[in-house]
Amino acid sequence: MELYDIAVVGGGINGAGIARDAAGRGLKVLLVEQNDFASATSSASTKLIHGGLRYLEYYEFRLVSESLAERGVMLRIAPHIIWPLEFVLPHEKHLRPAWMIRAGLFLYDNLGARAFAFGGGRFSLPKSRSVRLAPDGHGAGLKPEFTRGFAYYDAWVDDARLVVLTLSSARAHGASVRPRTRCTGARREGDAWRVSLRDQASGTQSEVRARILINAAGPWVKSLLERELNIESPGRVRLVKGSHIVVPRIHDKRYAYILQNPDRRVVFMIPYEREFTLIGTTDVQVAEQDLPAAISPDEVAYLCAAASRYSARQVTAEQVVWSYSGVRPLYDDGSEDPSAITRDYELLLDEQGPPLLSVFGGKITTYRKLAEHVMEKLARWIPAHRPWTHAEALPGGDFGGRDYAALLAEFRARYPGLDPHWLARLLRRHGTLGDRILDNAKCEADLGEDFGGGLYERELAYLVEQEWARSGDDVLWRRTKCGLHMTGAQRRRVAERMAGGR
Ligand SMILES: Cc1cc2nc3c(=O)[nH]c(=O)nc-3n(C[C@H](O)[C@H](O)[C@H](O)COP(=O)(O)OP(=O)(O)OC[C@H]3O[C@@H](n4cnc5c(N)ncnc54)[C@H](O)[C@@H]3O)c2cc1C
Repeated sequence: MELYDIAVVGGGINGAGIARDAAGRGLKVLLVEQNDFASATSSASTKLIHGGLRYLEYYEFRLVSESLAERGVMLRIAPHIIWPLEFVLPHEKHLRPAWMIRAGLFLYDNLGARAFAFGGGRFSLPKSRSVRLAPDGHGAGLKPEFTRGFAYYDAWVDDARLVVLTLSSARAHGASVRPRTRCTGARREGDAWRVSLRDQASGTQSEVRARILINAAGPWVKSLLERELNIESPGRVRLVKGSHIVVPRIHDKRYAYILQNPDRRVVFMIPYEREFTLIGTTDVQVAEQDLPAAISPDEVAYLCAAASRYSARQVTAEQVVWSYSGVRPLYDDGSEDPSAITRDYELLLDEQGPPLLSVFGGKITTYRKLAEHVMEKLARWIPAHRPWTHAEALPGGDFGGRDYAALLAEFRARYPGLDPHWLARLLRRHGTLGDRILDNAKCEADLGEDFGGGLYERELAYLVEQEWARSGDDVLWRRTKCGLHMTGAQRRRVAERMAGGR
């Protein structure tokens, strides 16, 4: 029976980050995911690499500082899938006075600047400022009564691709990475765990051994412990659903809006996939039997109302072209209000025999740092090794000193026969690895079957061969967002093709 140093259960961002870090330290790593990678919470986020301005109201200074430091690191190691985004906060003095917002942004800028200095000073974002909300500028798409606001920067991420690229890196460092493989049980036996696995496609059972077991099962963190491992959970988890809607774009500028709601929550309105606006999120407490999460009519109505308070054009349920929901697996700190529960993470170690480490909570933004903290917690059982993941670009993210615009210009010059807009979308997915897909293509016909929505046979084959894609959903909604740009018939064609039809 195969013996691993570390077996990770869960192929969301946290499991992926831990597998990558551990594999790069020379450990023999296995990661199993019961469905597709990022099929749960890690593809359903608001897709921000951010300090979390609103967390300052809850005094989450540790989390905000760590997140702002990570923002700089992530912009550096994955510049194809992560990029700066300017946010505009329209001012409404009866909700939050200007002095309060200025003080919050001052703190945010300064925590960001400190993180920048400590992080080696390689990436800084512009400081926050007051802005006038003009219809052709920072107020694009808003009602004319909003005249003043505040602008600041955070970053945008393609969350599902971040998971897959992190796992590609883990594999490149020697990890064994298995999608559609469920951990059905694990027990301690001597100095290792005996882990039972089920191949979800064939139903085949198998077993492996692992010296260390990591529970990165996200919303299932507690149930994995209690059901599959028969261990009483050391921590409690609060499952808080968050949903997003996608509507035709409400403006054609690049700004994202952070909208204040009368219930004191904030809702984001973000430019999405060029033609759309992404609006989210909600905070609804749920139970495990509600998984997988689905958006409710009440949530759609809430998000439409929040956006319509600000948007010049009413946002209605009929305009919604796509929606998604995810469940935040939050560490239960006893807060009553779901919006107030800490977004920070806890790593709980069980040392009664071979170690078991469970991840409670965690943000996409902090996953890399979380993985480093996991390695620190396991220091007694693994050889000493310096942190390394901040210094190596994720696959496709090594731009060799160029920025994204320079890389794109170079690709456009090298592939003059291909649509320049499509090349930009391809580079946003694959970065420098785009070459592997293009492979000297001279014209569109060289890319193979055109599935619509910007997806061609060559890329689809690459996603199957290199990125573990197996179903239509894997391709349309996680490896790419081409599904959003297709007709129903085109989506069905991709699903059919993935199911084995020609
Ligand atoms: C609405 C919403 C908005 C958010 N916005 C942001 C944001 O803008 N920025 C940010 O930084 N964070 C954001 N977050 C938080 C972030 O998305 C999550 O904290 C993060 O994705 C959690 O990752 P995870 O790996 O712990 O869990 P998951 O992604 O859920 O992964 C856990 C995986 O474990 C697998 N699994 C479970 N049991 C088993 C088993 N027995 N065998 C094998 N596999 C198993 C599951 O299938 C799942 O894929 C948001 C979250 C939500 C819900």
